[in-house]
Amino acid sequence: FQSIRWKDMIRWFPGHMHRGMKDLEQSLSTVDGIIEVHDARIPHSGRNTQLYQRLVGGHKPHVLILNKSDLADPNYLNKSIEYIQSEQPNTQVIHTSLASIDMKEMTNLFGRLLQQIVESPRYTRSSTVEYNIVVCGIPNVGKSTFINKLRNLFANKASCEQVGASPGVTRKMSEKVKISNRPKVFVRDTPGILEPRLKSADESFRLLLTNSIPIQQRELSDIIADYGLFLLNKYDKQRLYMKYCELDKPSDDILPVLLSLAKIKHCTQIYRDKRGYDLTGTALHFINEINKGTFGQITFDQDILDEKENEKLNDTNL
Ligand code: GDP
Repeated sequence: FQSIRWKDMIRWFPGHMHRGMKDLEQSLSTVDGIIEVHDARIPHSGRNTQLYQRLVGGHKPHVLILNKSDLADPNYLNKSIEYIQSEQPNTQVIHTSLASIDMKEMTNLFGRLLQQIVESPRYTRSSTVEYNIVVCGIPNVGKSTFINKLRNLFANKASCEQVGASPGVTRKMSEKVKISNRPKVFVRDTPGILEPRLKSADESFRLLLTNSIPIQQRELSDIIADYGLFLLNKYDKQRLYMKYCELDKPSDDILPVLLSLAKIKHCTQIYRDKRGYDLTGTALHFINEINKGTFGQITFDQDILDEKENEKLNDTNL
């Protein structure tokens, strides 16, 4: 995976991300707290350290929601929180699953978020009358889901009102939206912003598997599926993909996996007047099933968390 030209295959920093970052920086003087949403399966990959350094960096209360925890390995949720807090000690981390959260849980979550922002040592307002919160994060982590849940939470109280022009749906930073009257809370949405430079091939593939980077070149889908298979094997998650793809043993090679799956799903195409298996379409299907959790709950950054834990153990043994 390291040898392929992964930098060329991904264009991950479109213009609106650059503008989004600038808008965020310019709005900081009027922001009381930053809520960042991230995918719990990748506590390391795609974490936009620029966001922390340029926005939070010692000035603003910062709460990180590790979302999609229903899809992450439960054994790694607390380790993910510890990992992030060791890297960013001023960040409060909460894990949740926004897709399935009910009203009561959302009320609790929102209460905890507000409390953490107000209790943060860097919360500078003297009165707690009004809160201006900005929601940010990389693409596809659940920012819109979070804002919609917040809107629903307060919709019955008819307190949700737009301040300023109508928001462009996360292509650019939205206007303030009043989410609640008591307490008076305004929320601003931002476009998903990735770092301009990704650190490694592993990070890029993990972002492709979680759909934070869209797969723009379909013909590369078998390489991405192969990387997904590599992680499933590495983390001992063979059982469910073997069952789904009707394999009698695990495979290190993506081809037999895709061939078997293509047969089961009747995924064919006509090429040069001949009908054959559509391995590109099947690879996209396989990637989608990994992302949906069909092959089990998986923390893609498990290796990084294990490494960090071993380092800690070695340090204490010295
Ligand atoms: P955004 O790009 O950050 O605004 O992300 P969205 O809110 O549009 O969510 C991206 C996708 O993730 C959507 O298909 C959501 O339904 C899904 N999603 C959001 N939260 C969760 C969650 O907690 N669990 C799961 N399984 N899916 C989620």
